[in-house]
Amino acid sequence: MKTIKAPFKLPNTLHLHYHKEATAALALEVMPAPAVVQIPMSQHLGAPSRPIVARGDSVGLGQPIAEPVGAVSAWAHASVSGVVKSIGEGLSTSGRPTTFIELENDGLDRPGSTLQPRPDWASADGKSLIPLIAAAGIVGMGGAGFPTHIKISPPAGRIIDTLIVNGAECEPFLTADQRLMMEKADLIWNGIQILRHILGGPRIRVAIEDDKPEAIRAMEKAMARADGDVEIVSLPAAYPMGAEKQLILSVLGREIPSGGLPADVGALVENVATCAAVYEAIVLGQPVTQRVVTVTGPLIRRPANILARIGTTLADLIAFCGGLTGQSGKLICGGPMMGVAQIGADVPMGKTTSGLLALPRESVRLFDSMPCISCNRCVRACPMSLLPCTITSAVEADQLETVEALHTLDCIECGCCSYVCPSRRPMVQLMRQGKARVQLARRQKQEQEKAKGKQG
Ligand code: SF4
Ligand code: SF4
Repeated sequence: MKTIKAPFKLPNTLHLHYHKEATAALALEVMPAPAVVQIPMSQHLGAPSRPIVARGDSVGLGQPIAEPVGAVSAWAHASVSGVVKSIGEGLSTSGRPTTFIELENDGLDRPGSTLQPRPDWASADGKSLIPLIAAAGIVGMGGAGFPTHIKISPPAGRIIDTLIVNGAECEPFLTADQRLMMEKADLIWNGIQILRHILGGPRIRVAIEDDKPEAIRAMEKAMARADGDVEIVSLPAAYPMGAEKQLILSVLGREIPSGGLPADVGALVENVATCAAVYEAIVLGQPVTQRVVTVTGPLIRRPANILARIGTTLADLIAFCGGLTGQSGKLICGGPMMGVAQIGADVPMGKTTSGLLALPRESVRLFDSMPCISCNRCVRACPMSLLPCTITSAVEADQLETVEALHTLDCIECGCCSYVCPSRRPMVQLMRQGKARVQLARRQKQEQEKAKGKQG
């Protein structure tokens, strides 16, 4: 095993002020489970889970309480033991409406997991472990939330030759992955080995930005005796280095074709926290009931990296960190570049909540955006080599054909265009609108063609 520098240079990256100093040196703290948790049914990409418990039911810690629906979905589990207090509706951290299962904590953490641990995984058929990963409700914990059991089952004919483990954590303020690598490197490495076994032995590249030397050292120590083709790749600290497409380009020099997937170029990317979750599921028989979340920002009295139960409200996270020091201007789940602004603190954290950021009023842009001055800064900043100014103008003018023709669906919503725009145009919001309209138009077209086919 050796550590190498990233072999390929990325075009169009930003060098941001990372603001990680408030929490980078702080060890993980275990937050006591709150009196009540609200488990969202939408905390992954795909169809929401369906509750399989009813009001008044008694549940154990780790017990399955909601089942997947359809091809892309995930199980959800009780993150405390206790009683189902209610099943209701609310908003998830993504800002979308979702169903919640509210659990009253009895404080006992009575075990309820139905997963059968497989400490003998190395002698098991790799594919036989995939249903266990599905049953543990593991999804991409870096933020994407794509169900892991689907990701590690590539379509027929696609060979995964490289597993890239994403420890880049390029979003400002966030240090959850960094601390996880520094403190739980063995656990992550064990999870990586399980994934390697499942995938049939691809080479391993653990990618970490070079501004996290302690994390690199911790992973080097854990992987010192690694067998096979295994390397740690030290990436230049730049944004958005941790985005899937950018990571593959930087580590392997392979470009994912427009509309394609990492599997199209023989790669699979898993976040370090996802690898740790795989170990906990397979070896310990523990589903996803908690995760590390960085609670930080100028307004948080005592910033921290917290191991918190899924379903803990943002208000409870803030209270654990000593509350706010002033009036909140904005609460963001995730980082400031790709995170989602929240309408309040009553929203519960989910499996993909890596950070909570509290910004004061004065740091929030309160004035209106101005017209585009054709400065082209957004074009030079776009890591996907798109034309954000032209696309967003086409979105505003409702020119759907132009929006589609300019590869809007390739936008990774990194926020670089918004960040550099001197006119403070709401670029990412417009790009999201454009993507949603193109996807809707494609779906409608498919349905029309299907209906025509039936008539014919
Ligand atoms: S948000 Fe989309 S359009 Fe804007 S810079 Fe990122 S990839 Fe390019
Ligand atoms: S950065 Fe803003 S002002 Fe400049 S071209 Fe892009 S959208 Fe227009």
